[in-house]
Amino acid sequence: MKEILIEDKQKYLVENYPFSEIPDLADRKKCLHCGSNIVVGNYKVFADELGAEYICCPNAPKCDGTVIDWIDI
Ligand SMILES: [Zn+2]
Repeated sequence: MKEILIEDKQKYLVENYPFSEIPDLADRKKCLHCGSNIVVGNYKVFADELGAEYICCPNAPKCDGTVIDWIDI
């Protein structure tokens, strides 16, 4: 997985967030993989070898959680 640098994190989130309720960048969530409370805007994006992009935990690559592993605090 290769990290992709996102210039406009709000725009990217709106276009790629997998659920209908798009959070604000300042919102806090809990990542179920690493157990950390995270700030949504600190997300990272990684691409696999096929070019599919994933919104990942700010603690990636140490944490392999993605956006679907985040729950409301
Ligand atoms: Zn995590």
